[in-house]
Amino acid sequence: MSSEGAGRSASRSVLPPGMAMALATVTRLERQGRYAWLAVEAPELAALRPRGAAPVLKVFIAPRPGDVPALPTFSPTYLPSWPSESERPTVRSYTAVDYRAADARIEFLAFDPGAGSWWVDHLSLGDPLGVIGFKHELVLDDEPRVVVAVGDRSGAGGIAALSRQLPPDVALHVVVPETGWPLEVLAARDGLTVQRARTDHLGFPVVDWSDVAATSEAPASATSVWLAGEVTPVAALRGEAIAAGVLPTGIVAQPYWRAGQTRDEFDAALSVRYRDAAARGVDIQDPVVAADLELRWPAPDRVQPQALDTPREDGADA
Ligand SMILES: Cc1cc2nc3c(=O)[nH]c(=O)nc-3n(C[C@H](O)[C@H](O)[C@H](O)COP(=O)(O)OP(=O)(O)OC[C@H]3O[C@@H](n4cnc5c(N)ncnc54)[C@H](O)[C@@H]3O)c2cc1C
Repeated sequence: MSSEGAGRSASRSVLPPGMAMALATVTRLERQGRYAWLAVEAPELAALRPRGAAPVLKVFIAPRPGDVPALPTFSPTYLPSWPSESERPTVRSYTAVDYRAADARIEFLAFDPGAGSWWVDHLSLGDPLGVIGFKHELVLDDEPRVVVAVGDRSGAGGIAALSRQLPPDVALHVVVPETGWPLEVLAARDGLTVQRARTDHLGFPVVDWSDVAATSEAPASATSVWLAGEVTPVAALRGEAIAAGVLPTGIVAQPYWRAGQTRDEFDAALSVRYRDAAARGVDIQDPVVAADLELRWPAPDRVQPQALDTPREDGADA
């Protein structure tokens, strides 16, 4: 199929100011072991207005490779309506490592969890990809001058984004897995410190908040936190940071995945929560509300997928 329609946006949608949705074109596609660098371009992306560092986009992937993905429409309360089941796109979130309004281009780094047929493997340069952005930015108050970022291997793109996009006078302390994490994606900057930690069975760095806090002279009230990984360790570390005095509004805690579920299954469960919250009149755009909706789950009742330790068949594990 051709990329006919790429660059066309869904005109019936109501989006918050500074957000944009488009059928974009894939203009970079480079596989590097368990990671892939991608870039998308569309004229509408020039209208994006990130509010802070590490902004998140969603991509809409057509059910059949090369097809033009159908985009959702959004109501005035920003809830999506989807096309019919056979046309419904797969949706995944990624973090803009680089965004240039002048080029109407977003670049992101995608991690392959290794569970089988990965959507990126079915993509070609020039293919259409639906895109909507941005959300979940780390917005700093005047006060915080230290950012602590902790992520698993899929957090590499987000942490790369922070290293590029935080103001230069902000110290950035990152805690990442001691193996398999691509340190080369970090941009050199003053005040960057890197702590490599062993990981738990979910691939998340094993770290106590007190250990992290000890590496910084800043008080908790002057510290912002960015977390990404499986829901359980992300929720736990967020709780420790809040207990230590970090303001909930200064924390971006992102459950990238949930053990025992695909992202589709996790999203289906989340969408029920969001619809219920919206029906109760809760402001689902509020990041603290979103963290409460997304992070409170019972412990997984299925075992951890084998994906973490399963090398790619072509031996290209990073
Ligand atoms: C706000 C936000 C921002 C995100 N930004 C990025 C980003 O910049 N880069 C990026 O790579 N990802 C990012 N993600 C995660 C990404 O959207 C996908 O959800 C994730 O990579 C898995 O999607 P998949 O289609 O590859 O695998 P799925 O089909 O959803 O999952 C396949 C299997 O792998 C397991 N799994 C999923 N992720 C992992 C993992 N990291 N480690 C071990 N097992 C896993 C699942 O539980 C499932 O069993 C972000 C997610 C969110 C919510």
